[in-house]
Amino acid sequence: MDPMARRRTPAPAVPADCPCGLPARYADCCGRLHRGEAAAGSAEQLMRSRFSAFAVRDEPYLLRSWHPDTRPAEVDFDPALRWERLEILGAGEGGPFHTEGTVEFRAHYREGGRAGSLHEHSRFVRHQGEWVYLDGDVKS
Ligand SMILES: [Zn+2]
Repeated sequence: MDPMARRRTPAPAVPADCPCGLPARYADCCGRLHRGEAAAGSAEQLMRSRFSAFAVRDEPYLLRSWHPDTRPAEVDFDPALRWERLEILGAGEGGPFHTEGTVEFRAHYREGGRAGSLHEHSRFVRHQGEWVYLDGDVKS
């Protein structure tokens, strides 16, 4: 598909309930991070906010929460794919007194009429004091 056509695909409407799975309104939850009003307090919170950013297609947030060493030039959203639900399977370190953390998750999506999921073990580090995504291993 023509890459410019992909970029013109409108983002999904901003949801009332936060896509990250916490029982909160988007505006009060990941929306605060996306708007730059709050910073992630843990690697898990950053992971949740990045899932929500994929769901609402907030490219600037995804890029600034990505480590500069591994950050892509742009985020290539697939217009046919909707991120629907995040399951956190486990988290290691990534807290207030840590400089590194890991989060294992399963991200559920729908592509056309088909449901699928991505199982990933992600690594996060602090960069200039803020949690950022470093990289991840996709599982089976
Ligand atoms: Zn949220």
